[in-house]
Amino acid sequence: MEKQVNCHLCGAKAELKFEDVSLVNGRVLIKDSPYFHCIKCGKDFSTSEQMKELSGLISSQSGNFSFQRKIINAGRSLAITFPADIVEAYSLKKGAKIKLIPENNWTITLKV
Ligand SMILES: [Zn+2]
Repeated sequence: MEKQVNCHLCGAKAELKFEDVSLVNGRVLIKDSPYFHCIKCGKDFSTSEQMKELSGLISSQSGNFSFQRKIINAGRSLAITFPADIVEAYSLKKGAKIKLIPENNWTITLKV
């Protein structure tokens, strides 16, 4: 991994830093996630390589973090309820639209 890059805003040198990233109300914690901090303008940014690495880490750690919900009846349809933590973390509201994406025979992705 590159140790030093130039700031894409001002062109000054940016240094490599690490911070803990906390997601979903701290339930998913990514330790020492790398990013760059511009010494001159103070801008923080990540390279696409760092972003890719982070999203890989998030999906692998989120795998250990899931909720089991029972399917309930809602009129003539079936429904599932959202845990309060998820409602809060994603700012879900009644009437908000959510996309259901069938991935395969055992996975459906919800997109907020
Ligand atoms: Zn800068």
